[in-house]
Amino acid sequence: MKKRIVILGGGTGGTLVANRLRRALSPQDAEIVVVDLDDEHVYQPGLLFAPFGPFTVHTRRRLVHARHGALHPGIEFRKALIDHVDLDRNRVLLDNCVWLDYDVLVVATGARPVPERTEGLSADGAAERVHGFYTLRAAERLSRALREFAGGRLVVDVAAMPIKGPVAPLEFCFLADEYFRHRKLREKVELTFVTPLDGAFAKPVLSRTLEGLLRDKGIELVTGFAAGEVDGGGEGPGRLVARDGREVPFDLAVVVPQHAGAAYVQRSGDLGDELGFVRVDPETLRSLAKPDVFALGDATDVPTAKTASVAQSEGEVVAANVGAHLAGRELPARFDGHANFLVDAGSGPASPPGHLEKLAARRLYWHEMLAGRRTAGIDVGALPHTAPSGQDLRP
Ligand SMILES: Cc1cc2nc3c(=O)[nH]c(=O)nc-3n(C[C@H](O)[C@H](O)[C@H](O)COP(=O)(O)OP(=O)(O)OC[C@H]3O[C@@H](n4cnc5c(N)ncnc54)[C@H](O)[C@@H]3O)c2cc1C
Repeated sequence: MKKRIVILGGGTGGTLVANRLRRALSPQDAEIVVVDLDDEHVYQPGLLFAPFGPFTVHTRRRLVHARHGALHPGIEFRKALIDHVDLDRNRVLLDNCVWLDYDVLVVATGARPVPERTEGLSADGAAERVHGFYTLRAAERLSRALREFAGGRLVVDVAAMPIKGPVAPLEFCFLADEYFRHRKLREKVELTFVTPLDGAFAKPVLSRTLEGLLRDKGIELVTGFAAGEVDGGGEGPGRLVARDGREVPFDLAVVVPQHAGAAYVQRSGDLGDELGFVRVDPETLRSLAKPDVFALGDATDVPTAKTASVAQSEGEVVAANVGAHLAGRELPARFDGHANFLVDAGSGPASPPGHLEKLAARRLYWHEMLAGRRTAGIDVGALPHTAPSGQDLRP
């Protein structure tokens, strides 16, 4: 009998796993349905670069494509908000009151910033001097603020872990250094990177390299700073206030809020943990709640980095295991937990998004990665990020 595979989320992981499964399974054997709340697929690694140039209609065109266009023929796309999963009856409730039955469910609804977990932050960007770059709207607003910034204290803060694209805040510092040099303003800008971690990054080897780069570029590093409040209003400078009472003043703050899983996960029985990340076996990526549910990408509680390149590796595992599960076989594939990082240290002249390297990475993302094709070990998600001397910075 024909089976139905429902994939929740049509972002990086959901798209590439849908395309992989479509190639592997015949339409007579399996129907594949992808659900997402909108039809706008954002190339998220590109959000890092967008604030450093004018945010035009072309910027948007480069970063956003139609989701349905990235799905192979034979995959059904449903635009709807997921309300919850009924794990006992193998069905998903959509916001238009439609129940969608499944034989196998793949959860790929990613991670979302939750600014409301930090006092003083809000989804709308909060105070005038407080910004972000993890959404299209935030990146566009920050592009204006950077253009108008004529000097002072610029603080880049990771409010709390986990976050997706964990190297991006550091890369933002390097690109800001280069951007202000290019504008001949660097001497008037005090750059500070503030993190709740004990070092610049969670992986010790990469952390040491990044700390050296921060030093070389005259960027101050503040560690062990768990932001309790971001005070961006009123007269005088704004303040980041840590839970232990320490303060960091700023004229412009770029804050990356803590992330959580999609809200519906917590309305779906035992599917997720307290932050809404889907509890899975870290190797097979099968849900701990039900054997016919799998998850990948930022949505899971797997203790590895939340990056597109991890979603790509996990997609290969999930596609193989879903196929085996449908055929009644043992699950053959295992994720080994690895994550690669290539870091853009801003070594070249500051250039707007669109130079050749970034173009190549973006093209690979849309045409190779999302198609669910192997890319000969290339970390496509991280491709725009070249180390200063081209060395591999993996931990
Ligand atoms: C600024 C930035 C820079 C980054 N840089 C890099 C990099 O250099 N290299 C790298 O590898 N990775 C990078 N990343 C991380 C990378 O983009 C993500 O890890 C990757 O996109 C995760 O894929 P995913 O499928 O798990 O989630 P996503 O691609 O985010 O997809 C999740 C989908 O689920 C949908 N969804 C969520 N909730 C619901 C709901 N209730 N109903 C319906 N649909 C829902 C969303 O609309 C979305 O389309 C970066 C991220 C950012 C923000």
